[in-house]
Amino acid sequence: MAEIFLKGGREKSVLLHHPWIFSGAIDRITGNPTLGETVEIYSFDRVWLARGAYSPHSQIRTRIWTWARDEQINKDFFTRRIQQAVNSRAEFKHETNSYRIVHGESDELPGIIIDRYGENLVFQILFAGGDFWKDWIVEVSRKITGASGAYERSDVEVRRLEGLEERTGLIYGKIDQPFELIENEIHFWVDLEKGQKTGFYLDQRHNRNRILDYAEGRRVLNCFCYSGGFSLYSIKGGATEVVSVDSSAEALELAKRNLQLNGLAEEKAKWIEADVFQYLRLLRDRGEKFDLIVLDPPKFAPTASQAERAARGYKDINLLALKLLNPGGILFTFSCSGGISNELFQKIVAGAALDAGLHVRILERLQAGQDHPVALNFPEGEYLKGLICTI
Ligand code: SAH
Repeated sequence: MAEIFLKGGREKSVLLHHPWIFSGAIDRITGNPTLGETVEIYSFDRVWLARGAYSPHSQIRTRIWTWARDEQINKDFFTRRIQQAVNSRAEFKHETNSYRIVHGESDELPGIIIDRYGENLVFQILFAGGDFWKDWIVEVSRKITGASGAYERSDVEVRRLEGLEERTGLIYGKIDQPFELIENEIHFWVDLEKGQKTGFYLDQRHNRNRILDYAEGRRVLNCFCYSGGFSLYSIKGGATEVVSVDSSAEALELAKRNLQLNGLAEEKAKWIEADVFQYLRLLRDRGEKFDLIVLDPPKFAPTASQAERAARGYKDINLLALKLLNPGGILFTFSCSGGISNELFQKIVAGAALDAGLHVRILERLQAGQDHPVALNFPEGEYLKGLICTI
């Protein structure tokens, strides 16, 4: 098997069980590992450290599968890991028929995402090691879950950094398309083939549910509404009116169908196709006011290097939103940027509050649901952060 020797001192992060080895940490490689092949990882002075998958084109040159020397990477390995991940999700079944069963690095399966939508599995493979072992990963997942169909949604840009093509398509069986997702007793149509992410923002389930406690009697503005998640929960929670904004016409079409699917009061919902940055300004100029605003934008900063530009975007929408709130109003504000830490996000919102001239208090801190755990050895896994604030 090919071997990777690290530079002197660069074994530290591996000893702390961080799963990524960057190209700059590598001193030399023996053998000629191909894309995704398993490699042995040694310190500069030849102490065995770990076993991982090689990715020759990526800055993250190796992602670690195991730190146990006697653990080989084979079908048994994937069976153990996937079984463990599935077992730890048993309790979600009562609140939803759709949840993440494998969350990459945090489930010790780097770069591998598997979402379960009822009897359908959706795979998203982000790195070379996952591609290398894909057939076994699929076979093992099928056996463990008994799912009747599987679809691949590896249509994500990060694959290019790995030198991999984007890929989508049926893997086996037949999928329910569109799929009827049910979470917290609310139904949503999900486009498994073309919807955003793997079809639905499963990571916000728990946070959407939080809005039930705040919506009653309130006029709501849901920015970046996608297929209506926070909007439907708001109406169910007793909101007087919900204005929802998204730039995607398809997302809004789906959102309207979702409202009907649940038999919720259609007259309470207004759907606006617009750019949120512009629309918030329009609302300001019209002098409109709301009692509850949700800001759930897409990733502005996938990596730390884009953090500064992203910070300006977050500050802009948070400032505009805070100014649209009535006294006593509530703001649900999120960032799903891996490059923006919790601390930085809070600072950005604090800056917006200061500029708005408002005394803002945090009522709750939010994160992704329990099916998207964050491994302590992998802080990068904490991409989604949110605050419920009041003025
Ligand atoms: N809250 C949603 C998920 C939001 S995802 C849920 O719970 O399901 C982010 C959404 O922002 C996507 O639907 C995307 O179409 C939309 N979007 C991205 N940029 C936008 C912009 N500048 N203005 C309006 N919508 C935008």
